Order: sequence, then structure tokens, then C-alpha cells
Amino acid sequence: MVGSALYNTFNRAPLTFERGEGAWLVTESGEKFLDFAAGIAVNSLGHAHPHLVEALTRQAQKLWHVSNLYEIPGQTRLAERLADATFADKVFFANSGAEALECAIKTARKWHFANGRPERFRIITFEGAFHGRTLATIAAGGQAKYLEGFGPKAEGFDQVPFGDMDALKAAIGPETAAILLEPIQGEGGLRPFPNDMMKAIRALCDEHGLLLVLDEVQCGIGRTGKLFAHELAGIEPDIMAIAKGIGGGFPLGACLATEDAASGMVHGSHGTTFGGNPLAMAVGNAVLDIILEEGFLADIERKSNMMRQGLASIVDEFPDVIEDFRGTGLMLGVKCRMPNAKVNMALRDEKLLAVPAGDNVLRLLPPLTVTDEEIRSALDRIGRAARTLSNEAKAPGGQAS
Ligand SMILES: *Cc1c(COP(=O)(O)O)cnc(C)c1O
Repeated sequence: MVGSALYNTFNRAPLTFERGEGAWLVTESGEKFLDFAAGIAVNSLGHAHPHLVEALTRQAQKLWHVSNLYEIPGQTRLAERLADATFADKVFFANSGAEALECAIKTARKWHFANGRPERFRIITFEGAFHGRTLATIAAGGQAKYLEGFGPKAEGFDQVPFGDMDALKAAIGPETAAILLEPIQGEGGLRPFPNDMMKAIRALCDEHGLLLVLDEVQCGIGRTGKLFAHELAGIEPDIMAIAKGIGGGFPLGACLATEDAASGMVHGSHGTTFGGNPLAMAVGNAVLDIILEEGFLADIERKSNMMRQGLASIVDEFPDVIEDFRGTGLMLGVKCRMPNAKVNMALRDEKLLAVPAGDNVLRLLPPLTVTDEEIRSALDRIGRAARTLSNEAKAPGGQAS
């Protein structure tokens, strides 16, 4: 056999972590990295959080899996808690973001079908979107690089330029069922929909009888300092997909909907073998225990301000490396002047982990439990990396010479 037995789909960094603790990852050789990637916004409470470890191991000793043929009390409880905390009345549990989106797409189409409008199945999405890697979600995301080679693009997705309200209005037709968007595009480079645009899109949905479907897989579960990003705009969706942060590292996704929007999803219309199993539910409930604690979300705004102040002075000092920073809460990113992969490598040399995104942005997604001291340390590391890159560029033979 040549190379590894794994599919070649990932370009992995040559790093192997053996364990994690809070915002830190430790390699097999004992090197410590400050983890501002957090498994791509998944490890919302950091690594090996004692409350999550306890919840998971306690459940593991009792029951792992029974399937959805039987009652699962942890599911009922987590669904009720999510419904209590949001616009939603109904929840379907899955194992990933893409699966949560699949359920959201099916729910939207089925609502129109059940209400005598079977012709309404098309969903409008925005350029720069990322909704997952299944056949439907690559069609929804609309990115050529993810669609190529996989046969005809799944029918029923119409894409408009980001933030173009005229194009959005023009795209609404007699077959349109819903508008789908990430309140803050993650993979697309931390692009937020402005609050007034979110309100306008909500109004457009109401005017045309469309469902508003939000993908909060990345920006949800406290990332922005609100439980969900759409709260910042003061609007509510009809359907919402979540994943990443709610599992804190355990594979868990969910589709949330109002009673009305979920009304087409009757007995037998959707299913999953693993979704909502007792292990996942134990962890999901434990994540909510912490995130919903009094003061937890408010503190994210304060930490965000610390990050922003630090990033602002780094931008001032090294504009040849970092052009600007953007984002909300602890979903921040730096817009790089140099290729973001190069800046990412320089950060890794400083033992700080970040995540590249579109638009030459490097995302900083620390665990929401990150401490002030860890934030200061991350800012020091970013400053040092920027200085190194800036000096290299200015040196004879460097980029700026
Ligand atoms: C990660 C992500 C997804 C896909 O989630 P998977 O768990 O990888 O299927 C969908 N939408 C957004 C916004 C994401 O960030």
C-alpha cells in the first residue's frame, strides 16, 4: 500500500495531539499548543471539561444506544431546554451539521407540500455560504470546488450574491420555499449579515410566505455572546440547524423549528439510527448546563472586547501582515495581507492554533471558557508572529524589498 489507508481528502498538519485540557492541546512529544481552533468551533467548553467528562462517563456506564424505536429521556429533556431557550417548539436530533441542514431543508419543503403547495421546493442561498458536504448541502452552498465531479447539482437551490437585496427579491419565484443563510458566514470568512438586512430578509419571507431557515451550526451556542447569533438582529427564524458547539466535541446536530414549520414532518417522514442517542444527549445537556449558567454568555462579550483591543493594536503595528480584524463575540478573525496559510504557519510556530477561512481570513475560535490570561497569551503570540513575518518581508529579498 502506498501512503496511508485513509482517503486523501484532508491535508492534515503534521501534528498529533495526545490530550487536551481547557484551551490547551498537548502533542505526543509533550509540546503545548494554545487552541484557538477548538476543533472548528466545536470544543465550546474546551478540552476535557470536568462536567462533560462526568456526564459522558456516567452515561457510558449505563446505556449507550437503543435507537429511536424507544423513548430516550435525555432527548426529551434536551429538546425541551432548547425549545425553552429559543423560538423553537420542535427539535430533531442528528449527528452532524450537514444532517441538521438536511432535516432543515426537508422540513421547509414538506411544510409547503403539506399546505397544498407542492410546487414550492426551491431554496435561496447566498454566495460564500457553507452548509456541509452532502449532495444537498453542497448544492445549497453552491461552491463549484465542492460540486465538481459529483454529478448533477441537486435541484432546487438558487444562489444570490452576498448581501444583494435586489438580487434576493428578484430570485423569489412561484417555486420558492425558503431562504437559507448563516447569520455570520463561517467558512466564507466571518461575514455577518447586518442586523437591518436580517430584519429585511425576515420581512421578505413573511411577505412572500417563505420560511426563514438559519444555519447556526458555527455561530450558534454562545459563539457570538448570544445563545444564537440571530438574537443580535432581534429576529426569529422558522427553522434552524445547529451542531458544532452543542456537542462540545461529541458528534451532535439538531434541527429546530416552530410547531407550524415542523407540521409537515409527520410520523415516518424522516429518521436516523444514531441521532439523539443517550451518549450524545448526556453531553448536549451538560453543555447547556454550563452555557445557560447565569453570566456565562455576558462574559463572552467582555472576553471579545479584550481580543478586539489586542487585535486592533496588532493591526496598527503590522498592517503589512494583518489588514484588519472582524467578527463577533469569540468568533473573530484577522483579514490577512499575506496569504492566510502563511500567517497560520507563523502562528503555529508560536504554538497558537487558528483556522483558515475564505476571503484570506484566519479565524480565531477559542473555547468559550478561555481565560483572560490565555487571551493575553494568544495576543502575544499573534504579535510575535506578525513581527516575524513583517521583518521577513522587509528583509533584503523579502516580499516588500
Ligand atoms: C461546519 C458547518 C456545517 C457542516 O457541519 P458538519 O458537521 O461538518 O456536517 C454546516 N454549516 C456551517 C455554517 C458550518 O460551519
